[in-house]
Amino acid sequence: MKKTFYITTPIYYANDVPHIGHTGTTVFADVVARYKRLQGFDVFSLTGTDEHGEKVALSAEKAGKEPQTFVDELALKWQDYWKQLNISNDVFMRTTLPGHVKIAEELLEKLKAKGDVYEDTYKGVYCVGCEEFKSERDLVDGKCPEHRPYQVQYREEKNYFFRISKYIPEVKKRLEDGTLPLIPENKKTEMLAKLAEPVKDTSISRQNVKWGIPIPWDKEQTTYVWVEALMNYYSATRIDWNDGVNREEFWPADVHFLGKGNNWFHSVIWPSLLLALDLPLPKNIFVHGYYNVEGKKMGKSLGNVISPQDLMDKYGIDGTRYLLCASMPYVGDSDVSFKWFDEKYNSALANGYGNLVSRLSKLYRDVPEMVLEDSYFEFQSNDASERVFGGHDNGSNYNDAYNVYNLSEVTELFNRAVTNINSYLTTQEPWKKAGDEKIQILRFAIGQLLEVTHAISPVMPETAEKVFNLFKDKSASPLILFARI
Ligand SMILES: [Zn+2]
Repeated sequence: MKKTFYITTPIYYANDVPHIGHTGTTVFADVVARYKRLQGFDVFSLTGTDEHGEKVALSAEKAGKEPQTFVDELALKWQDYWKQLNISNDVFMRTTLPGHVKIAEELLEKLKAKGDVYEDTYKGVYCVGCEEFKSERDLVDGKCPEHRPYQVQYREEKNYFFRISKYIPEVKKRLEDGTLPLIPENKKTEMLAKLAEPVKDTSISRQNVKWGIPIPWDKEQTTYVWVEALMNYYSATRIDWNDGVNREEFWPADVHFLGKGNNWFHSVIWPSLLLALDLPLPKNIFVHGYYNVEGKKMGKSLGNVISPQDLMDKYGIDGTRYLLCASMPYVGDSDVSFKWFDEKYNSALANGYGNLVSRLSKLYRDVPEMVLEDSYFEFQSNDASERVFGGHDNGSNYNDAYNVYNLSEVTELFNRAVTNINSYLTTQEPWKKAGDEKIQILRFAIGQLLEVTHAISPVMPETAEKVFNLFKDKSASPLILFARI
C-alpha cells in the first residue's frame, strides 16, 4: 500500500485578502506536499477559508454585504491567488460547506455526550481580531499585542464551556515527551511555559454572534469559530469532495503548518478536543514565525503590508516561491524588504541558477553530436539529490532539510550546489576543449544541474519543467528564466 501524507495550512479568515504571511505558510506547505509526492507518497494537501464568526460578520457589514455573499467572493479571491502561485492543494475547505457543518455538529454532540461540555457565564476581555478571550497575561498595557490599539472589549455572557482542564495534563505530557512533536523547539518551549500556569476551561459558544454554526442543542448560541475551524482538518477527510477519492485513510494529519499566532489553538486546544473525541492526534505540528517588513511588524496602519500580488508582479511565480522559502521565518521571525528580495533574486536566481542554465544550454547546443540519454531525466525519488548535496558541507543534506521543513536551508543548499557547478566549469574550461574531453565535462556538469533542478523542483516547479525541456529537446530555444532586476 502507498504511504499517505496529509498536510494542512490553517484555513484563513475570510475577512480580507492574503498578505505575505498567509502566502508564506501556503507556499511552504505546498513545497513540502510536492516534495512528498516526489518521494512516492500519496499526498492530501488542504488549505481553505474560515468563514464564520464575528470578525467575518463585521467585515461583511462594513462592506455592506450579506456574510454569505461576502465570504463567497473572498473564497474565490483566495483560490485565485493560490492558483496563480501554483499551489497544488487537493481540496479547498470552506467552513460554510454543508458537509463541514454536519460533521462539526456531530463532533459537538459527541463532546456533550462525553460530559465534557457545561454551561456557565463568561466574564472577561475579548479580542475580536483574534476571536479569542484574553487573560491578563496575554495583554500588553491592556491591549492585544497582535491587534493594537483596538479590538479588546469587556464581555459577560452565557457560554458553553469545554472541560479542557481534564485533558491538559495529557497534552502537556505528550508535548514534553515528544509523542506530540511540535517543531521547532522554541515554539514547544513557549507552549510549555504557558502550560505551567493553570488553564481555564475553553468557551466553545457565543451568545451574540449570529454568523456561525448553531450549537445543536441550543440554537440561541453559535459555535465558537475557532472550535469548528479546527474541526475542519477532520471533516475534510470525511466530506465527499466529488472526486472519487476516499480520504478517511489520511486521518490524522501528518503535519499542520501554521504561524506562531495560532500555536495555542493547534498545539493545546486542538489536541485536547481530539483526546475528548477519542480521535488520534496529529503526527507533527510545525509552527513558523512572522515576516517583519524592514524591522517593523507588518500592519495596515503602518502601510507596509506586502501582498502576494506585489511579489508575483516583480519576481514571477517561481521567483516568489523561492524568495518566500529563502526568507522563511523558521525559528524566529524573519525581516524582509524589497531591497533584500531584489538582492537575493539577482544573486541566487538571475546571476546564479539562471545564468548557469543559459551557460550550459548554450554549450550543449554548440556540440551537435552530443545527446543526453533518458537516464539523465530519471531521478531516484528518494535520494536523487544526495548525489549533488550529499557529502558537501559537512553532510548538510537536502532530504534532511525538507524533512524538518527547513526550506531556507533547502535554498541555501541549492545555492551552494549552483556555485559548485559554476566553479567546476570555471576550472575545467569546457569552452577551450574539444571532442570527447569537452563532452565529458559537459555531461558531468549538465547531470549535476539536472539533479539540482530536480531537488529544487518542489520550490520552483514551472522552472524545473522548463529546464528539463531545454535539455531534453535540443531544438527548444534557450530562454531567460530570471531576468535581472
Ligand atoms: Zn488580538
